[in-house]
Amino acid sequence: MDHRSRQNQFQQTLADDELDGFVVTHPANLRYLCGYTGSNGLLLFFGGSRIFFTDGRYTQQAREEVQDARIVITKGPLLNEAAKQFGRLRSAIGFEADHTTVTVAADMRKLVRKKTAWKPTSGLIMHQRMRKDAEELRIIRDAVKMGAAVYEQALPSIRAGVKESEVAGRLEFAAREAGADGMSFDTIVAAGRRSALPHGRASSQAIPKRGFVVVDSGVAWRGYCSDMTRTVHVGPVSREERRWYEAVLAAQLAGIAAVRPGTTAGEVDQAARHVLRKTKLDRFFTHSTGHGVGLEIHEPPRLGKQQEERLEAGMVITIEPGVYIPGKGGIRIEDMVVVTAKGCQVLTPVTKELIEI
Ligand code: ZN
Ligand code: ZN
Repeated sequence: MDHRSRQNQFQQTLADDELDGFVVTHPANLRYLCGYTGSNGLLLFFGGSRIFFTDGRYTQQAREEVQDARIVITKGPLLNEAAKQFGRLRSAIGFEADHTTVTVAADMRKLVRKKTAWKPTSGLIMHQRMRKDAEELRIIRDAVKMGAAVYEQALPSIRAGVKESEVAGRLEFAAREAGADGMSFDTIVAAGRRSALPHGRASSQAIPKRGFVVVDSGVAWRGYCSDMTRTVHVGPVSREERRWYEAVLAAQLAGIAAVRPGTTAGEVDQAARHVLRKTKLDRFFTHSTGHGVGLEIHEPPRLGKQQEERLEAGMVITIEPGVYIPGKGGIRIEDMVVVTAKGCQVLTPVTKELIEI
């Protein structure tokens, strides 16, 4: 990973925002900027240098992982040690307001002299993380392939009478066997009427004799998340159910077709939603069309109504419309795509034809 260029780019952001320093503590941001994967770490940007603080439990891990920063092992709270660097000059130090508790923010003020001002910031590192570099894209492609392979391994376990949790267990075992770091979120397996729950985590309920089964799952691979959803049907599909499925698939394809640099996230959402409106199913589409994915499972941009963020090449997003009809069932189809110079490329290599089991 080219941590140095990421740090240099962030240093430029600090200069543009007239910040003399910055404290990073959010784990995904630490991993992104310096490679550290442990907990209790703090990366300080100050006076053109980078210092990484952690405690004695992580001495070896920090030495192995941390790139392009001096490592300081501390006995006390990391912030206290970091604050000692600021000295007597007037300075403005940024911190991650979205990841700082009210308690910590109150403590921070006590740690510094009057001339040091803490500046709450939001999304500065995330903004940089939205566009993935070449190495991140390689890892994400591998994560998506692994996520697809383990889904396909679990697919034969989907049949009437099998518990949702067993399907999830087979999928998760396959992920571990493939060498995944873990799952990128709690696996969703929602069968029959439960498929109408957009976030129906796998329960102990058995798959009924007929109905949709929504499987939404992802692996974490070298820190990066995959995310995919497929909906299959157990037993014969009714004409109405097929119509719902075809509508969701058409909406998903329309969403993908709308993805290109310069388009707003809201326009992509609108493209998918519009297809469902034509068949009067849009009122059952109760969430946004997708989200960014990377070191975290939900990252910006959010592809929701009126979202003004413009897509750029290198962003990795999901396209995942769904309809959820209370008492009957639900369908969601989700792929990961990367925004390219001219449009996008679908990463998820799994068929979207309706599978009847
Ligand atoms: Zn998902
Ligand atoms: Zn998703």
